[in-house]
Amino acid sequence: MPKTDIEIAREAAKKPIQQIGDRLGIPAEHLLPYGHDKAKIGQGFIDGLRDREDGKLILVTAINPTPAGEGKTTTTVGLGDGLNAIGKDAMVCIREASLGPNFGMKGGAAGGGYAQIVPMEDMNLHFTGDFHAITSAHSLLSAMIDNHIYWGNEQEIDIRRIQWRRVVDMNDRALRQVVCSLGGVANGFPREGGFDITVASEVMACLCLADDLSDLERRLGDMIVAYRRDRSPVFCRDMKADGAMTVLLKDAMQPNLVQTLENNPAFVHGGPFANIAHGCNSVIATKTALKLADYVVTEAGFGADLGAEKFFDIKCRKAGLTPSCVVLVATVRAMKMNGGVAKGDLGATDVEAVRKGCANLGRHIENVKSFGVPVVVAINHFSGDAEEEVAAISAYVAEQGSEAIVSRHWAGGGKGAEALATRVAEIADAGVSNFAPLYGDDMPLFEKIETIAKRIYRADEVLADKKIRDQLRLWEDQGYGDLPVCMAKTQYSFSTDPNLRGAPIGHSVPVREVRLSAGAGFIVVVCGEIMTMPGLPRVPSAEAIRLNDAGQIEGLF
Ligand code: ADP
Ligand code: MG
Repeated sequence: MPKTDIEIAREAAKKPIQQIGDRLGIPAEHLLPYGHDKAKIGQGFIDGLRDREDGKLILVTAINPTPAGEGKTTTTVGLGDGLNAIGKDAMVCIREASLGPNFGMKGGAAGGGYAQIVPMEDMNLHFTGDFHAITSAHSLLSAMIDNHIYWGNEQEIDIRRIQWRRVVDMNDRALRQVVCSLGGVANGFPREGGFDITVASEVMACLCLADDLSDLERRLGDMIVAYRRDRSPVFCRDMKADGAMTVLLKDAMQPNLVQTLENNPAFVHGGPFANIAHGCNSVIATKTALKLADYVVTEAGFGADLGAEKFFDIKCRKAGLTPSCVVLVATVRAMKMNGGVAKGDLGATDVEAVRKGCANLGRHIENVKSFGVPVVVAINHFSGDAEEEVAAISAYVAEQGSEAIVSRHWAGGGKGAEALATRVAEIADAGVSNFAPLYGDDMPLFEKIETIAKRIYRADEVLADKKIRDQLRLWEDQGYGDLPVCMAKTQYSFSTDPNLRGAPIGHSVPVREVRLSAGAGFIVVVCGEIMTMPGLPRVPSAEAIRLNDAGQIEGLF
């Protein structure tokens, strides 16, 4: 039996976090330790980095995933260690984990095998408390809205049109729709409400896109919490909650420094949902890392059709970032699934299915190139992969005029990723990236949606009711027309049908709903059923999680 992720992580020879900070040149007074192996970076230090040159930004993304995940985080961590192993000065930047899902289905957020970030138990649980702070800030605003109504509703909020829901960091389907303020006159005005999981909070998206605390405060103030009967928006600022919320988020805004199994530095910070938000770690962590290392390897959630597109069109556009190279993760089993093989049959060698599934990979390669960024395919090697299956992927990628490199970081850590790291560094150093977002700020909102649907998903058309088109026009009139759009659709297909794998064409993209995230600064385009409060499966993994006699956590991956 190979060791589990948690067993490997437990054996890590971690260095005290100050030593990791020393390597980055962070003086002790600017490193705020949370125990021995985690620390936050002070704003004063970050402000002082402004005039330094930026390192090179490398994005790890993937083909349309199988339900098990394709190893993007594992590859991000492995590539970071690989770059350090070949003598480069590299850092990793990834998202924090949402607590709730850890108790549902297995699957951690710290990487896997010998390519992990430690302490993985903390990272998957309370970590440095950032998500609790976000829950608190969000809850403060929720409470202040109902309190405002209770004391006379001076802002004339239409209580049927309150947009601001409540959040908790738990998979709790019972809370999706609730009736609140029950119990009589003293408890306010009964109304319908509901809960989302914390990572779906707009507060999270704001924190992850903000440059600093004052930008965060402005974004929080801009959030729309409700509408009046005349449909005019009521802002968080009107509730006078933005200042206190920023106070609650003061520490959560600072990047968290941890280390890989090979003692290389990593920032783990922020974790917005990848559907109704943009799905990548905070701008402040990425920008700070770029000042501290020559190469920064980061990850975007889901497949490249969603994750990379949002990374480019939302995060890079808004933060002024320019990626130097994209690593597109593919696996033999995912190629097989895209080629029509059922999940239960993935163990059998099937070169034909691999080849068929490669159509999915080919389209992602083309798409990434259309942003002007060079791409290299990383074949994340699994022990069961047959040589001829791996060769089939490499041959296909070569036919597309690109290159694929087999990477064995899961089994071998940084050493296993040296070939990938060498090539990625060469490409990044060559300075051939000519990055540009897919569409300009001034394009009308509906056309932005069409541009993504046609050029990235290769759909024939976007279907939207007059109501939706009118809503988009209204937002344009109100001055929100220059915002990017944030697509929310299934991650399993280029289309909106999760069963349509491979490289479908001729499909339609139906827009069910549009939502304005005015603080985060994007318009969410909901295509299909999107879940913002997950449930637990029949047998939640929580049933197997416990402390052993030595006080160690068991059952967490
Ligand atoms: P993603 O970031 O794409 O969701 P992760 O990197 O978190 O995927 O990996 C998902 C799971 O797959 C983890 O449990 C990890 O240990 C496992 N995994 C990743 N790469 C490999 C590999 N090459 N061999 C075996 N298991 C792997
Ligand atoms: Mg991941």
